[in-house]
Amino acid sequence: MENETLESLGEFGLIDRIKNNTTLYHNETILGIGDDAAVIDNGDSFTLVSTDLLLEGVHFDLTYTPLKHLGYKAVAVNVSDIAAMNGVPLQITVSIAISNRFGLSDIDEIYEGINAACEAYNIDLVGGDTSSSRSGLIISVSAIGKVQKDKIAYRSGAKANDIVCVTGDLGAAYMGLQVLEREKQEFSANPNMQPKIEDKSYLVGRQLRPEGRTDIVHDLNEIGVVPTSMIDISDGLASEILHLSKHSQKGFTVFFENIPIENSTLETSSEFSLNPIASIISGGEDYELLMTIRQEDFEKIKKIAEITPIGFVTDEIENWLVLNSGEKTKIVAQGWK
Ligand code: ADP
Ligand code: MG
Repeated sequence: MENETLESLGEFGLIDRIKNNTTLYHNETILGIGDDAAVIDNGDSFTLVSTDLLLEGVHFDLTYTPLKHLGYKAVAVNVSDIAAMNGVPLQITVSIAISNRFGLSDIDEIYEGINAACEAYNIDLVGGDTSSSRSGLIISVSAIGKVQKDKIAYRSGAKANDIVCVTGDLGAAYMGLQVLEREKQEFSANPNMQPKIEDKSYLVGRQLRPEGRTDIVHDLNEIGVVPTSMIDISDGLASEILHLSKHSQKGFTVFFENIPIENSTLETSSEFSLNPIASIISGGEDYELLMTIRQEDFEKIKKIAEITPIGFVTDEIENWLVLNSGEKTKIVAQGWK
């Protein structure tokens, strides 16, 4: 299209455009742009590669984000993309750009978080790049992982009648962000106030210090289940359902009443007069896994308490959320503009 603009494309349209203008030259490149990680054949197994970029003022706000947590999160979100391929992370590289607002102790704090994540996930920090920045802090992490060839889970493998499952609980990270934003506003109005986030610690923790679900990859391996498709929930359940639907060319029907939600998520949503369905379906940064599994694996999946079935896959490519009233609402695209 001649009059295509960045605005009309949006994030996903832009990525599709970059992908369509890309040529792959190597047979070893099994999968390039388009999934949670690139897939490279290394003979015995597949190597996985993923990258994420975190920008101050866009992805994080340093008025309420401790630098140590930021370092940890920058690693965890990449671990999450490796886990979404059913893989195990092995190495990371970390690139940072720092403005003159930051001192040595700040950098030390960021790396304390990065090193804590490396220990938690058993990852080696093997390189990166360092630069000055004119506008705030930038952190980019790339992760390298691996997966046995017959265990890989793409976005594209969902089949009709598969069971749709999610890990953990959803919506808490988004509500944590709302709590932090409210505290920030109240603090700027009245700097003497004491933060009152004690009872919101679960939500705030989910926002500031998410975890990549490598534990689930381990559990799936133990029970001998390979998901037919999988993605991590970084942009909200609705958006990730649409990704699996598009890549698999199948439809998804999920039931709101089956979605695991912490009480404090719902309580805080109503306290803030937010639509609970929108908060849970579209609120991002849970870094849980959304997967589809074969019907015959259902009994095995029951052994993993952290995995919850929420719906099923259909041949008809339409995506529905069934509300508690029984009413159905179509899941529509969101994403960043
Ligand atoms: P995720 O949310 O899982 O990190 P993204 O939506 O950021 O995934 O990216 C989707 C796919 O597009 C990935 O394969 C990613 O590597 C690729 N991608 C994103 N931005 C670019 C870019 N600027 N150039 C090339 N590939 C990109
Ligand atoms: Mg992802």
